[in-house]
Amino acid sequence: MSDTPEDRTVIVVGGGPAGLPFAAVLGGWHPYYRDSPILRQRYPQLVQALSSHTDSLLSLPFADFLRAGIPPVDLFRLLHHPRQLFENFEQIALEFRKNEAVDCLLLTQEEVGGLWNNVPQNLLTLSPGQWMEFAFYPLALHARETGARYNVNELIIKQRIIDYYHHVPERFEVQQSVHTWERVTKVEPHEAGFLVTAADVSAWKGRDPVALRRPAFPQPADAVEQSYPTRQYTCRYLVYAVGQRCELHALGVPGEELPFVTQYYEKPAHFPGERVLVVGGGRSADWAAAELHDAGKHVTYVMRQSSANHWGLINQSRGGLPYYARLAEILEDPSAGMEALYGANLTRIEASGEGGLVRLDVGGVERAIEVDHVLKEIGGRADYSLLQGFPTSLQLVEKHDNYRFQVHQAKVHPHTYESVDIPNLYPGGYLAEGLGLVVIAMHGTTYAIAADILRKEGKL
Ligand SMILES: Cc1cc2nc3c(=O)[nH]c(=O)nc-3n(C[C@H](O)[C@H](O)[C@H](O)COP(=O)(O)OP(=O)(O)OC[C@H]3O[C@@H](n4cnc5c(N)ncnc54)[C@H](O)[C@@H]3O)c2cc1C
Repeated sequence: MSDTPEDRTVIVVGGGPAGLPFAAVLGGWHPYYRDSPILRQRYPQLVQALSSHTDSLLSLPFADFLRAGIPPVDLFRLLHHPRQLFENFEQIALEFRKNEAVDCLLLTQEEVGGLWNNVPQNLLTLSPGQWMEFAFYPLALHARETGARYNVNELIIKQRIIDYYHHVPERFEVQQSVHTWERVTKVEPHEAGFLVTAADVSAWKGRDPVALRRPAFPQPADAVEQSYPTRQYTCRYLVYAVGQRCELHALGVPGEELPFVTQYYEKPAHFPGERVLVVGGGRSADWAAAELHDAGKHVTYVMRQSSANHWGLINQSRGGLPYYARLAEILEDPSAGMEALYGANLTRIEASGEGGLVRLDVGGVERAIEVDHVLKEIGGRADYSLLQGFPTSLQLVEKHDNYRFQVHQAKVHPHTYESVDIPNLYPGGYLAEGLGLVVIAMHGTTYAIAADILRKEGKL
């Protein structure tokens, strides 16, 4: 480790959809209001409030908007998406102009794009593709610039969304502000603001998630600071955008480490043999169970939740999402061969012959199922343990909704998203208290946070 920490103004931890836009916006790309016919038609009061505002929208009095019932995340959502479908660029009531940059360094432990790097190969988003875009770079513009041809209003497949996110640093000329494969291991108080310790985990780049049996990025238990070179930074402001999957959940049963048990699902080809037991019950498990079934596997789908709960989600989703319609069809057809076990808990996994034996408690009745593979799709949690030595800890509140969104969020001032407990620390995206609109809000905290930092730096 070098002795003198490198001093930066802002450090962003995490380069997913919540953290990545900071590289561009703090890199100087600021939003300005521009006329949008659809906004005028649908939100005339908003147009009245904004049309004479010729400065950057970062200088808006967000506290006043909040008092009028419009939190910053909603304000920018309305300006960006005044209607749900994309018809033309003119509907977006925002334009971005290049201003002076603020010194900002984004540290992320994998490629930019966050968890989308590790989702299944064929996974489709839950929402129209363009809901995943940043306002400063419409997906339709990206498609046009890269010669791709697809409908941005349709659900978008993993590779397209990841191509989009990977392209952002270069497109906005902020590559030098983005360090990929650098894992932050500790954030401590410092006279400059924060002391950030980070490990160079570029050795993880070539690791094979199939062999690893989990996505190829480090988790807290890997204690990478003991095995890889580390460096330190100081900064005045810290954006904490580490996402909801820093630490994957474990089942906590004997046998979980056996070689036929995996926490990584990309495609059925990685599952030779016939019998796959999928443990989970959320959207990732639903996707994997249906896809494995359609690839000819015999799937036992094991869930703790009740049938009523699971069918609540399926029925809510089967109208709009074709892969839920397919899952419903499979489960409704007894001859289809997928067995769903509700109210079920794994108690033990054992090696048996070429494969394994999974012991379960299904509503008080013991069962043993022979398998070739066990796939754990049981989610993960946000990791706040990196923050160490602060006089107050973050107050966390649990957030969940009917769409299976679940996270511990940190309490924030709702007009700036600054932590109420640690000054100048900003939980990004869904880690900020109150953010819940799951399919559109993950980068909604960007503008109010950037504005607060610029204001404190005297640059607004
Ligand atoms: C299977 C699945 C499907 C989903 N589908 C949708 C959808 O269709 N639409 C939608 O809007 N949302 C969807 N979501 C919600 C999803 O959470 C968001 O799309 C989005 O990825 C959240 O962005 P984020 O930046 O907060 O977190 P992430 O995408 O998780 O990114 C955080 C990044 O920070 C990195 N990181 C973590 N800790 C450290 C550290 N200590 N040091 C350095 N880097 C670190 C992580 O490795 C990761 O790259 C889905 C989620 C899942 C799991």
